[in-house]
Amino acid sequence: MRLFHCACGNRLHFGNTRCLSCGRALGFDPARRAVVALDAGADGLWRAPGGGGQRYRNCANVVAASCDWLVPAESGDALCLACRLTDTIPDLDNELNRIYWGRLEAAKRYLITDLLRLGLPLADRWQDPQRGLVFQFLADADTPEGPQQIITGHAGGRITINVAEADEIHRERTRIALGEAYRTLLGHMRHEIGHYYWMRLIEGSPWQERFRALFGDEREPYEQALQRYYQFGPQGPDWAVRHISAYAASHPWEDWAESWAHYLHITDALETAGVYQLTGMPQAGEDIEQLLERWHQLSEALNALSRSLGQRDPYPFKVTEPVAEKLRFIQEVVGAAGSSGGAAS
Ligand SMILES: [Zn+2]
Ligand SMILES: [Zn+2]
Ligand SMILES: [Zn+2]
Repeated sequence: MRLFHCACGNRLHFGNTRCLSCGRALGFDPARRAVVALDAGADGLWRAPGGGGQRYRNCANVVAASCDWLVPAESGDALCLACRLTDTIPDLDNELNRIYWGRLEAAKRYLITDLLRLGLPLADRWQDPQRGLVFQFLADADTPEGPQQIITGHAGGRITINVAEADEIHRERTRIALGEAYRTLLGHMRHEIGHYYWMRLIEGSPWQERFRALFGDEREPYEQALQRYYQFGPQGPDWAVRHISAYAASHPWEDWAESWAHYLHITDALETAGVYQLTGMPQAGEDIEQLLERWHQLSEALNALSRSLGQRDPYPFKVTEPVAEKLRFIQEVVGAAGSSGGAAS
């Protein structure tokens, strides 16, 4: 993530909503991929000082979901680019659901900045009613037919997330029960969007054969593969060498989604580190070996620093040679998709 600057010169971070130096309101403009300082106009619209006369409105979810993203004043949309991608939310009469929904939208906004950063193509359900990207955040419920459990996952452009994932205690308990090294809301978002881009960029494309050579044949029955994984764990003595995580060893689709999530983790963290001049910024088309070499050094230091503060390793993974090959492929796919116009609109 980049750093931003207020009109007064103060440094701003993604998610800041008010400048602590000059007191200006702040908002995120996805078209500029920037946090911008705002002055209120007499017409009730926001203006960015020195921003070339661009006027903005707040996203209509500014209160309900604490959304700090902006909508251009001339736009007919009430909701921002990120909020428009959600079509189902849990019952907000339940106070916990309101808190969980806010956390999920915050993680989703961060995810959308990844897509903007990489210039990835994005179509919503209005642009592509069959396979456009849409999110639904649902809670487990008791129905007349019995308890209904919400499974987090992706199907045909629709990403479903169980709102309980936004409950830190539930999430940590699940992480331990499943033996996972890492479980976060942003991680869920980056994983599920990986399934979306597999459908958009790999399925039926010229990439498909190389995908199968690297990740395996996705025609392997999916439900059975997951059942086997949850019953017996990852298969094969060398699964840890061939995959970034245990779950990645469950099925080629999950291997892709896990690897994709790591590509987003690594390139975003390297951009952040580059902004703070800890290492070089990731470059488009940069050799993956160089990029991963920098990541290796950085993540080792990051883990050590975290231990100095009595915290868990933030990156408890090892990028092996076979995993690096998968990341190289993802970088190629992202590069080709990003250069073909891209940029979420
Ligand atoms: Zn300021
Ligand atoms: Zn919004
Ligand atoms: Zn998955």
